[in-house]
Amino acid sequence: MVDLISQYEKIKPEVDRAIAEVLATAQFINGPEVRSFQTELESYLGVKHVIPCANGTDALQIALMALGLKPGDEVITPSFTYIATTEVIALLGLKPVFVEVDKHDFCIDPKAIEAAITDKTRAIVPVHLYGQAANMDEIMAIANKHNLYVIEDNAQAIGCRMSDGRMTGAIGHIGCTSFFPSKNLGCYGDGGAICTNDDELADKMRMIANHGQSKRYYHDVVGCNSRLDSIQAAVLRIKLRELDNYIEARRSVADRYDAFLANIEGVSSPYRNDHSKHVFHQYTMILEGHDRDALNAFLAERDIPSMIYYPVPAHRQKMFEHFGSGDVDMPTTDWLTERVISLPIHTEFEDDQMEYILSSLEEFFKGNK
Ligand SMILES: *Cc1c(COP(=O)(O)O)cnc(C)c1O
Repeated sequence: MVDLISQYEKIKPEVDRAIAEVLATAQFINGPEVRSFQTELESYLGVKHVIPCANGTDALQIALMALGLKPGDEVITPSFTYIATTEVIALLGLKPVFVEVDKHDFCIDPKAIEAAITDKTRAIVPVHLYGQAANMDEIMAIANKHNLYVIEDNAQAIGCRMSDGRMTGAIGHIGCTSFFPSKNLGCYGDGGAICTNDDELADKMRMIANHGQSKRYYHDVVGCNSRLDSIQAAVLRIKLRELDNYIEARRSVADRYDAFLANIEGVSSPYRNDHSKHVFHQYTMILEGHDRDALNAFLAERDIPSMIYYPVPAHRQKMFEHFGSGDVDMPTTDWLTERVISLPIHTEFEDDQMEYILSSLEEFFKGNK
């Protein structure tokens, strides 16, 4: 689905030098690379505070821990997402309240949020799924009206701009992202970050990520241990400078898929919403009247990967059975779950690879009419 080896080859001298420098100084934890990356990411996102941490799941967990919620408090989130978004809510003893997504852009449906608000609702966790933004203007308006926190799950959309230029992750009270290798800004191991414009929340989250420590060996709250290491930070500094180019490369792959799919019946290319500029973490089509398993097998035979993100929505996961969430009707989420399929997309596509994939798709869809 991604080509991280070719991408590395292009930045190899810089990356190797940066890693060697970290090794030479042996400042593996909290070294100057981490602080520099933090500052550079703050300025890229246009946000006051970035708190680097160990991974995107921790970022979400630390964000929720900072809100001072009580067991049983409700957090509204889409069911159509990666499990990490929803898992941390339950892990902290809070109640995930799953709602529908928009059928076109796959992001949480603001109308469904309003309908799900109760007197126990404390926060909303929208996900900028596949690389384009949820409807943040409507979500923030709902949150302000009902006095709720908004934590953006920006793991798939770092670098995505709203139509007015603001960046995803910097709009809600807190934004969370992941630097898992295959993400749009990926490191060479695990990594994540939290961002906020709120000084108080920033202090709290920094403390939580560091064993609840206020000053050395004084621990004020129960926290966790979540750090980005210096080697990852050194890699991320180099890749952050390339991020906008990487996004353009992804968008041009998406344009080529789009142009091809425009002539194929029963396949919808990804809808691009008006309020943000898609950064195509995934290129996800909707199939209607085509056999998805057959397409997956056909492509696999030709060594072309394809993936179903996600085959089981959160509300149907066994881990949430005790919330009775499987009993809730979510026709759009179920409909999408049965029909989506994602094609390879990354920053290093060669023309001949693209042509090979397109001709294989053509063969499948023409033979399958
Ligand atoms: C990747 C991802 C996460 C979790 O990030 P990790 O770094 O793997 O912990 C959370 N939410 C979404 C939507 C993701 O895609």
